[in-house]
Amino acid sequence: LEYSSRLEAQSAELSRTARKLQEANEKLTQISAQKDSFLSQVSHELRTPMTSIRAFSEILRDADTLNPEEKRRYANIIHDEALRLTRLLNDLLDLSVLESGQVSLNMRHGTLGDLLDHAVSAALAGYERPLRVVRNRADETLHLYSDLDRLSQVFINLIANAQKYCDATAPELTISVHLSGGVLVVDFIDNGSGIPVRAQELVFEKFARVSVEKAGGAGLGLAICREIMMRLGGDVTYLQGAGGGAFRVTLPVAREMAAQ
Ligand code: ADP
Repeated sequence: LEYSSRLEAQSAELSRTARKLQEANEKLTQISAQKDSFLSQVSHELRTPMTSIRAFSEILRDADTLNPEEKRRYANIIHDEALRLTRLLNDLLDLSVLESGQVSLNMRHGTLGDLLDHAVSAALAGYERPLRVVRNRADETLHLYSDLDRLSQVFINLIANAQKYCDATAPELTISVHLSGGVLVVDFIDNGSGIPVRAQELVFEKFARVSVEKAGGAGLGLAICREIMMRLGGDVTYLQGAGGGAFRVTLPVAREMAAQ
């Protein structure tokens, strides 16, 4: 009897191991499929600017009937596409460092208001018609101890997106701040058309874009924002029902700072 119950236990153990192996195998297949799809998306994103750089440099090289205005226009396209490639490669590199978890945080002291000032000017520099930013500085006196460069990178990204996707006739962004149970909450709400419910979580994935016609980025910005906020112990989410495009950044703050 003892022998048969031992056999039973062994056979149960064996089938448990078999199940675990099968699960591991499925996971590996899934990871490999994700890697393939990532590589094909990256190749696609690289190919688009490369194609136009090649085409326009060939025209410049081969066509001898171009007037100076045409030459300048084509050179500008090449320049812009090269910039786009650089941005894309930088974003990919940044994302891979963040995802690997090997990013070291550079913790510094600062005030939220200063950080937002910096982010607003950095995000809107170079725009002929920068959007109107509505803020309440009295709420922004909170002292922070965090990786301020990374936090600023998230803010810049969200403000730059608001500039891209807000209402074109009266572009406006409201940044509002409050503390909730030791967590700093910063909301970025623009007056654009926002993101449809089905895509609100999707936009945080790599290469996700809702409105392709508003070309520009490769859809990596929000994925980077999410990785950064996770590393900082917080999060960034879509704020449903706020009207336009609306993103919420949350960051736990030290108790003595939250008490200010
Ligand atoms: P992109 O470089 O395409 O802007 P992001 O990751 O920053 O990439 O954003 C992903 C997508 O989310 C964008 O392509 C856009 O469709 C949508 N999106 C981001 N911010 C906003 C916003 N403020 N309003 C409306 N849609 C937005």
